Amino acid sequence: MSEKPKLAMYWAASCGGCEISVLNIGDKILTVDEIFDLVFFPCIADFKHHDLEAYPDAYIDVCLFNGAIRTSENEDMAKLLRRKSKVLVAYGSCAYEGSIPALSNLTTKEATFNTVYFENLSIDNPDQISPQVETEVPEGLLTLPSFYNTVKSLDQVVDVDYYLPGCPPEPEQIWAVLEVVANALINDGPLPPAGSIIGAGTVAVCEECNLEKNVKSITHFYRPYEIQPEPGLCLLEQGLICVGPATRAGCGALCPQVGMGCRGCYGPLDGVEDQGAKMLSAIASVVGVGDSTQEEHELEAKINAVMDTIADPSGTFYRFSMAHSLLRRVRANGNGKKEVS
Ligand code: SF4
Repeated sequence: MSEKPKLAMYWAASCGGCEISVLNIGDKILTVDEIFDLVFFPCIADFKHHDLEAYPDAYIDVCLFNGAIRTSENEDMAKLLRRKSKVLVAYGSCAYEGSIPALSNLTTKEATFNTVYFENLSIDNPDQISPQVETEVPEGLLTLPSFYNTVKSLDQVVDVDYYLPGCPPEPEQIWAVLEVVANALINDGPLPPAGSIIGAGTVAVCEECNLEKNVKSITHFYRPYEIQPEPGLCLLEQGLICVGPATRAGCGALCPQVGMGCRGCYGPLDGVEDQGAKMLSAIASVVGVGDSTQEEHELEAKINAVMDTIADPSGTFYRFSMAHSLLRRVRANGNGKKEVS
């Protein structure tokens, strides 16, 4: 049996970009192949569920798990991979914080199904068929995983050793993490403390963004298609929503460099519990509508008018962090309790 450390990668509720990101490390992928034995990676090779089940517990040295927990299958695989892996990494924003799939926590499973299977303009579904957990057919009973009402992050269903944020993580960060893990497994090198966020910075994206920052005083927010930002200047100062002040660095501020505001995919920075609340606070501090000599009701009306120019505030400020936020989901059960099941 090979003595190389064993690496697994799995894809739950996500777009597949995380799997591609591993290939983005370029020719270092050959080094990964030299160092590790790939023992479970269904996206690129024909590994089966029963292959994984047959491994002894803790057989896999490190598992990169990407994707949120959206279905019972996602949860079952998370539990199985946790049992089979010594080190489990929440890889990418969806596993770390729910990310885009968790935006459906702003609504209900029923509303999501209605949109996807019945209401979209491109849907042709005259018999109003939607997926069922069990369906009888002449050949027997067909089953599908159940679809949860609330999307969860990986650490809301199993213990997670490390978090590697990003949508997807940046290639140099992925490589740096794999090097550390390989060194620990092969040479008994040090591992970061359990629970660490790895492959990312500790400060805000603004700290690594080289756009010029002046005093901000914003009276209108724009969507990206509405204005052509002036090159070299902070986007937020120009009224383009940029979640850089509330987001962990580590990407090199890639999006702001090309005129697109940071979308927040590295999650909240150190010391920030709720990325959306932090961003709301950052926005509130730059709205320019007057001073304290004005009547309070006048100021309030002006502030509301400016804030109304932000399209989809919850979807914008919690785009990547809804499952991990203090909100977690909207109240959907009508009984006044935050629903997390
Ligand atoms: Fe921060 Fe965004 Fe302004 Fe750059 S463009 S300084 S990331 S707010």
